[in-house]
Amino acid sequence: MSTTGVAILGCTGSIGQSTLDVLQRHPERFHVAALLAHRNVERLVEQAKATRAPLVGIADETLAPQLQQRLRDEGLTCHVLAGSDAAETIARLPEAQCVMAAIVGAVGLRSTLAAAETGKRLLVANKEALVMAGWLVLAAARRSGARIIPIDSEHNAIFQCLPPDARLGEAPPGVRRLLLTASGGPFRDWSPEALQNATPEQACAHPVWRMGRKISVDSATLMNKGLELIEAHLLFGVPVDRIEVLIHRQSAVHSLVEYQDGSMLAQLGSPDMRTPIAHALGWPQRLPAGVQFLDLAQLGRLDFERPDVGRFACLGHAIEAARAGGDAPVVLNAANEVAVEAFLEGSLNFGGIAGVIGEVMSSSTGRHGVNSLESVREADAAARAAALRLVRGGLGT
Ligand code: MG
Repeated sequence: MSTTGVAILGCTGSIGQSTLDVLQRHPERFHVAALLAHRNVERLVEQAKATRAPLVGIADETLAPQLQQRLRDEGLTCHVLAGSDAAETIARLPEAQCVMAAIVGAVGLRSTLAAAETGKRLLVANKEALVMAGWLVLAAARRSGARIIPIDSEHNAIFQCLPPDARLGEAPPGVRRLLLTASGGPFRDWSPEALQNATPEQACAHPVWRMGRKISVDSATLMNKGLELIEAHLLFGVPVDRIEVLIHRQSAVHSLVEYQDGSMLAQLGSPDMRTPIAHALGWPQRLPAGVQFLDLAQLGRLDFERPDVGRFACLGHAIEAARAGGDAPVVLNAANEVAVEAFLEGSLNFGGIAGVIGEVMSSSTGRHGVNSLESVREADAAARAAALRLVRGGLGT
């Protein structure tokens, strides 16, 4: 019996691990065709052993000898790819009919696009790639016949609430608004003064979701929701002003679609990424995901409130970038990636993240027309350089 080959880009991260968990529940339907990690050799070897993946890749090529040695120690004979091109090579593999794009950051753009170009089922968790060049990814998928299913819990929820014949990138008739829910992050009740000097440890202690460090900081600044607003605009073709962000502490409603007739459809579930992953792997069928089922009586209530853009300036910057379009989302994302890294390294304070983004957006937006992968990468590199100059110059510290 033939099973679907799945390649996981970003296999050792939180989404990669959840994907493996779901796949291992369904050996009759799926096998792992390839695994790609950034730097975590030990976890990659463990996963290669558990899945018998025939091909493994490591993006940091200085770690290739160590990876080869560890695979030999374990008696594994898988083929090894190393370096910055490994992700793209794996994304194009004919043996993988399905690609999970779970690399964090702009660095995942090329491989996400490659999977779209080769007509795969593309499960996109790499939100930065969609923010930068979602239009490019969608156009490639339209040409190749690739089926894109969003993994970000909010976008997966919206996908589930849209009509089954909806085409990505085109607002389906009858849709009035999209409502994106946000837990509010760990600092939702903090004063503006306390926020200024919040530490990386505090920022990474999310009240509901367990995630990697970059997305945890993005959740704490609400930039994550800002990036998701841009992502939703590009994926579903709904104008920015018809996408609303709602703070919803329980993280049970993952997002909603409002229709012209007054109907509102929501998708609910436990805050566990295995639900959207299983949905996207099995679509249009439903697969057991191993998650805890939601007990609404035990939950008791669902609360919603509007976000405070005054306290969370990053969300305001993202809304501004979404409205401006063009290179603005690319600049926003690049500045954010640099600022978050500086914050995690201790060279920028929490309040400085929004400061760097605001500065870079006002100095760099509108400089590059973006109409190709090359032009997106130029705008990204220029904004990154501008952000680095600010961080090194000591802004916000
Ligand atoms: Mg999300």
